[in-house]
Amino acid sequence: MRESLLYIDGQWTGSSDGQTFDIVNPSTEEVIAKGAWASKKDLDSALAAALKGFHAWRSVSPYDRSRLMRKAVAVLESRREDIARIMTLEQGKTLAEASGEMGVCIANLEWMAEEATRGYGRVLPERTANLRQHMIKQPIGPVAAFSPWNFPAQTPGRKIGGALAAGCSIILKPSEETPMTAAEIVRAFHDAGLPPGVLNLVHGHPAEISEHLIKSPIIRKISFTGSTAVGKGLLHLAADGVKRATMELGGHSPVVVFDDVDPVSAAKQAVAAKMRNAGQVCTSPTRFYVQDGIYKEFRDAFVEEARAIRIGDGMDPSTQMGPLANARRVAAMQAMVEDALDRHAKLLCGGKRIDRPGYYFEFTVLEDVPRNAKMKAEEPFGPMASIERFNDFEQVCRNANDTPYGLAAYALTDSASRAAAISEAFEAGVVAINNYSVSTPASPLGGVKDSGYGFEGGMEGLDAYLISKSVMHKLAGPL
Ligand code: NAD
Repeated sequence: MRESLLYIDGQWTGSSDGQTFDIVNPSTEEVIAKGAWASKKDLDSALAAALKGFHAWRSVSPYDRSRLMRKAVAVLESRREDIARIMTLEQGKTLAEASGEMGVCIANLEWMAEEATRGYGRVLPERTANLRQHMIKQPIGPVAAFSPWNFPAQTPGRKIGGALAAGCSIILKPSEETPMTAAEIVRAFHDAGLPPGVLNLVHGHPAEISEHLIKSPIIRKISFTGSTAVGKGLLHLAADGVKRATMELGGHSPVVVFDDVDPVSAAKQAVAAKMRNAGQVCTSPTRFYVQDGIYKEFRDAFVEEARAIRIGDGMDPSTQMGPLANARRVAAMQAMVEDALDRHAKLLCGGKRIDRPGYYFEFTVLEDVPRNAKMKAEEPFGPMASIERFNDFEQVCRNANDTPYGLAAYALTDSASRAAAISEAFEAGVVAINNYSVSTPASPLGGVKDSGYGFEGGMEGLDAYLISKSVMHKLAGPL
């Protein structure tokens, strides 16, 4: 059986103590490969390699770094569809989505390769005669990065892109559920000629790895995408070493649908956005607040559209929504439905696991879910949406913000004034009006409140891996 290997100091290697874990296809529940389980010894080798790699890579000119990154981008482009197939096999999303994700990953890396040459400093005005002041940007140091299973290419790509563009080395720990896609991203850099140690890949026991890496004095920065609970734990570890952190955590996105839009096309667009990656997206639209005048039409069209979704194996081209990525999500969906119904929410469609092998769950729509229900209090992270009506602008703003999360928020309206007012009122890191696109290579993506801090993407995504150093230079004397 195929084994997904560790990549340390430019070499593909199994675990030093021979341990492995299973990688499962969520569409069939079959074990499709093994993953190498990094031992402490392997982690120490990765740390030593990252330190060596940092010293080598920081002294490569930004133009040469950019050139090498663009070479890796070309390799990825040539392998795009092959990697998409690996992604569908280990994660479950449809092939079309996997290929689309590869496109986004490539675009982000390409943009970051260009940004590598733009780590500008600043010349500051003199305060004292002959005292020249300027600020330079330098790479922060070796990075430990942790990426989840929902975007197996895009999230590793973002972390690798930012770190490498800035001149940092990186140890990436992808999710143990989707390590093979991450390995292909790493392989593209290897094949493009990245010096050994600059990029390293480890996996095994998440908590042991993160603790070991974050506690090491070699690591100067951490970047994590995943749940708020795990993120908070990693922040505690980072605080002990006063290490910089970028935290992309959970979300619970509201969608405010005003009565000046066509309810039927709005509902169709909403279902398409919600079913993406079976709802396992931190910016997935989840709580729909629909204005009174179009409530019934929107709700009925939303449910009709939801019922028509073709759910199945992501490898089948007719599939619109794949399975959930693991059994934990199925159990979480089931628990949220039961809890919502216990609290007198109404089930409009879906609500149960589909009776076949694989982690399939029906697209579920709930009406009038009370604020204390599990589904409202926790990130659903699955094919589940709530719908309720609103009348009053102030009230809908309060409801939309009534969550610890603050990642993405959406509004649908034809009115520029309503759009402006709600964009300002939303407590969110990103707002999308009349569409569900929340991130492009040039735009910084990050959250507020429990959704984390720091950014990926945009010039902020490069800055995340740079330090600012002020230099005060007293000129020696007259010429
Ligand atoms: P989880 O919290 O156990 O794991 C989330 C991710 O963090 C996984 O990739 C896991 O490998 C990693 N992880 C877990 N413990 C870690 C540790 N101590 N150190 C480093 N990495 C660690 O939960 P899960 O069951 O995989 O997912 C459940 C929840 O996670 C979802 O409900 C969702 O809220 C959240 N999640 C968020 C994102 C995101 O993009 N923000 C992605 C995946 C999962």
